[in-house]
Amino acid sequence: MSEPLYFVGPWDLDRRLPCIPRDPRDGRVLFVESRAKGRALPWHRQKLVLVLSAMRHFAAELEQSGYRVEIRNARSYAEGIAEAVRAHRSTRVVAMRPREMGIERSLVSADLGAPLELHDDGGPRGHFLLGRDDVLRWARRRESLRMDAFYAELRRRTGWLMDDRGKPLGGKMSFDVENRAFPDRDRPPPVPSHPPDAITRDVIERVREWPGGWGSVDGFDWPVDRAGALRELDDFFASRAASFGPYEDAMLRGERWMWHARLSSSLNLGLLSPREVCERIVAEHAEGRMPIASAEGLLRQIAGWREYMRALYWLRMPGLRDANLLEAKRALPIFYWEPERTEMRCMRECVTTVRDTGYVHHVQRLMVLGNFALLAGVRPIEVSHWFWAAYVDAYEWVQLPNVHAMALFADDVATTKPYAASGAYVDRMSDYCGECRYDVKARTGADACPFNPLFWTFLERHRARFGKHPRIGALYRTWDRWSEDERDAIRETAARIVRELEPAPDAPPEYGVAFRDDDG
Ligand code: SF4
Repeated sequence: MSEPLYFVGPWDLDRRLPCIPRDPRDGRVLFVESRAKGRALPWHRQKLVLVLSAMRHFAAELEQSGYRVEIRNARSYAEGIAEAVRAHRSTRVVAMRPREMGIERSLVSADLGAPLELHDDGGPRGHFLLGRDDVLRWARRRESLRMDAFYAELRRRTGWLMDDRGKPLGGKMSFDVENRAFPDRDRPPPVPSHPPDAITRDVIERVREWPGGWGSVDGFDWPVDRAGALRELDDFFASRAASFGPYEDAMLRGERWMWHARLSSSLNLGLLSPREVCERIVAEHAEGRMPIASAEGLLRQIAGWREYMRALYWLRMPGLRDANLLEAKRALPIFYWEPERTEMRCMRECVTTVRDTGYVHHVQRLMVLGNFALLAGVRPIEVSHWFWAAYVDAYEWVQLPNVHAMALFADDVATTKPYAASGAYVDRMSDYCGECRYDVKARTGADACPFNPLFWTFLERHRARFGKHPRIGALYRTWDRWSEDERDAIRETAARIVRELEPAPDAPPEYGVAFRDDDG
């Protein structure tokens, strides 16, 4: 008997989505392991384990509920679907709109052998708060596509953390400036553990033998099913949520999770929905367990930044991928892959943590790893590929806008000025500098913190663009006050630092893959 085929992308692991038939008798369910996607980048091994194991757990849950489920290994998602259509003589293919433009284009243009019925990945039956058309309508009505306007509209539409008169609770939309405390004596509580079960152990062994890949597969400890994701959610609200806001930007040596929620990998796979997390934040605040600065800080991450990044992705692609406003030309330094190759304590700490876990939090991404690449003039697409490959929660729709439009200012759609900072910022928000071989206060000479000369020469290089910016302009007056000898010494120090940056090879043989964009 012919029937529809329901294709479930590895990021659609939610029974409430329309890519899962309401009744198991209504059609077959297909998952595809794409070999093209597996080879596209040197993915972090824990990310491979997470995606493959979560898919298997979800498939097993559906099977237990009576669904007929198939996991097909194929050259690409489109070929896997076409093979299944032929094998089962399916009458149509039902799927969510893929979150990645390359995959969506390949599904729409491929001859799948049956009509394709795509459902919006956002809105009431999707996995984002806004539907794609909603995003386009929002963008059409405005000249500027800034995050604060986007976030304010979402708050008004949902009523989350708003009072009866439509005003934000606490009197302001954002508590960002109150979320920059440093925990002098406080230390974060432990996070829950998710020991690998038989399914995950099998996947770990398979990934261990995979010739490509980066990072350690040992120590894998991410939630791979909805039960694990809910455990993580409950633990966060019970132990860390109240302090999340004040300490969300802080960085401590050896404290890999700080007070962060660790929900992004589950959200981006579909194990948690953004709506349920946001509603929980609102409820926790209403019950008096989450102060407004923490509640608003987390709401801004999920209803604000996460949705905004996905909106920018669809508004700016495919041009966003090639954006390089500042004409950055340098190759990615090798120490993004091999942290022992740098003596910068902050970089070494952050890259080592990513290599061990597939994760660091947003400020480590933006203000350490991204900031260095910005100041050193690294080509955006190389940084973008690294972010995409290295983090367990990164997908093109979120990392490309984050890297290109935020961290590297390769596109000025999101902000009028780059997130550039000297070593003083890292020193204020972390305990890294005390243990570093470089002097965070020095801007010249062999011991100068590399962020300092790179920061000042970055400003000098882009004076025509930022010299009159109201928030950066004052820095140029400081630069101009220094003597020419001082400025020369800064330039020489910066030139030596970038000269000594060893580039990562394009396709390191030990990683076993080439960088490619593919339908995957
Ligand atoms: Fe990083 Fe500079 Fe601090 Fe060293 S001194 S940890 S390089 S910011």
